[in-house]
Amino acid sequence: MLLLNPGPVTLTERVRNSLLQADLCHRESEFFDLQDEARSRLLGVYGLDGSQWQAVLMTGSGTSALESMIAAMVPENGKLLILENGVYGERITQIATQYRIAHESVKHDWMQAIDLARVTARLDAGEGFTHVAVIHHETTTGRLNDLNALGAVCRARGVKLLVDGVSSFGAEAIDFSDTSLDAVAATANKCLHGVPGVSFVMVRRSALDAAASRTYYLDLRRLATLQDARSTPFTPAVHVFYALVEALREFEDEGGLVARHERYAALAEQVRSGFAALGVEGALPADECSVVLRAYRLPVGVDYASLHDALKARGFVIYAGQGGLSAALFRISTMGAIVGGDVVRLVEGVGGVLK
Ligand SMILES: *Cc1c(COP(=O)(O)O)cnc(C)c1O
Repeated sequence: MLLLNPGPVTLTERVRNSLLQADLCHRESEFFDLQDEARSRLLGVYGLDGSQWQAVLMTGSGTSALESMIAAMVPENGKLLILENGVYGERITQIATQYRIAHESVKHDWMQAIDLARVTARLDAGEGFTHVAVIHHETTTGRLNDLNALGAVCRARGVKLLVDGVSSFGAEAIDFSDTSLDAVAATANKCLHGVPGVSFVMVRRSALDAAASRTYYLDLRRLATLQDARSTPFTPAVHVFYALVEALREFEDEGGLVARHERYAALAEQVRSGFAALGVEGALPADECSVVLRAYRLPVGVDYASLHDALKARGFVIYAGQGGLSAALFRISTMGAIVGGDVVRLVEGVGGVLK
């Protein structure tokens, strides 16, 4: 079965086999070597300087990294402006609410781009916002939000930027030299092709000094301090670390960030043009989308369940639209061990359903 959902991804044999290594005690040096390699390879994905940036690992899915980042990076007296244009932006608002972090949300229609004029107006209204949170690739619709434009707005105002990069880290450009950028949350099992169970926050070291401690298990500063000292507070998902490290070695062997971006871009374009020839249109213009996942309009007279089931019978798992979009859209991710021949068969499958 090939997974065309936005994580977990179809594994390569190399990563799958890496799960079958020696049993490890997480208090032995072998585990800390593994943890160190994961952390330094994560820095390497974007060529980051370890004296300025730190990769902080945690056991849990992408949302745990997101929760850890939001709970820590907005200081006790800070105030967060959350930009919502999909399910994941809403999730950040739910996290901020849960931790009673002072916040406000700028809500957009899920199909809309972030309205920078509205964001600027909120930041300039004199209400003391210290941080902005945004989703890089809003997986709800496939939209890639423009971090560069937003970073410029934040830099000009001395406001710090917190990014959910869960479905973009490893495949889309992120400008870590943007001085407004304080942290990016991401996960092992999306564009990096690991298995689910480990996620991480890339955090600017200097920004950790002001971090709050609102959560016990996901306390970012404690995790950061202990991992720097070759330690860990709790039992990590050891086997998932094996897979993450192997996936990062494979990522490097395949040419790193640029190569992964290009590979996804080619697959996404192959899906787009194949579907277009069948009359199945993208929900957003391709140049506003990530290369990771795209949303498509369900053809008239085809409901999602029958499309899903027919494709599953042919070996593909596609993904539904979320919330109010579930009746109108379906989504195709091309992360993981997917090749051009798979896309040819997918397009044939969709063509078969339409007939
Ligand atoms: C997948 C995803 C998450 C996290 O999902 P988990 O199920 O917790 O791994 C968060 N944000 C975005 C943008 C995502 O695509």
